[in-house]
Amino acid sequence: MILDITPTVSPRLGVWPGDTSLHRQILLDIAKGDNITLSTLKATVHLGAHADAPSHYGKKGETIEARDLSLYIGPCQVIRVPADPGTRIEPDGLPAITDPRVLIDTGTFPDPENWNEDFAALSPRLVDFLHEKGVRLVGIDTPSVDLQDSKDLPAHHAFLRHDMAILEGLVLKKVLAGRYELVALPLKLEGFDASPVRAILRPLGDAVNER
Ligand SMILES: [Zn+2]
Repeated sequence: MILDITPTVSPRLGVWPGDTSLHRQILLDIAKGDNITLSTLKATVHLGAHADAPSHYGKKGETIEARDLSLYIGPCQVIRVPADPGTRIEPDGLPAITDPRVLIDTGTFPDPENWNEDFAALSPRLVDFLHEKGVRLVGIDTPSVDLQDSKDLPAHHAFLRHDMAILEGLVLKKVLAGRYELVALPLKLEGFDASPVRAILRPLGDAVNER
C-alpha cells in the first residue's frame, strides 16, 4: 500500500506570500493538432511538499543536489501533535520517538490551496530534542518549520546546527499515527535552495491506513 502525502501541484497550490506560484506554458499541444504535448514549468522550488536545502537558511549550507539521499528514504514515524494556531510546538508531552525520521501532523494548515497565515511551527528546543533522540529528518504539514512572521528563523537554524533535513508542505490529515517507510527524494537541482518532492509512505508494523 502506498499513501501519497503530497498535495497536487497546480496553479491553485498556495505559495509563500511574494513567492512564485506555478505557471505552465504549453509549447505544443496534441489537442490542437501538434504531434506531441510539451510544457514548460515555472515555479518556486518551495512548492507544495518540498525539501529545504541548508543553503536556504545558512550562508555555507549545502545546496539541494549535494544532500545525502539516505536522509529522505527509510523508517519514519508519523505523530499527531495538535497545536494552537500561531504557536511553536515544544517537546513536552510528545509521544515516544522511535525512528530517525519524524513527520508531525499539526492540523494547522488544513488546505494547501487556501493559505492561512497562523500555522503552527517547531520550537528550536523541539529540534534539539529530536536530534538527541537520533532523528535526522523532520517533516511538517505546514509551509515552514518557523512561524510565518519569523525573521530570525530559530527552528531552521537548529536544523542547520544539527545538519538535519526538513520536509515542509506535507499532507498528513488522512494518515494515522504510526510507523512507515518514507520516500521523499529531492530533485538533483544544482545550486538550488530546495526541491519539490513526491512524498509517499508505506505502512510498517502496526500502522494502519484509515481510508
Ligand atoms: Zn523552510
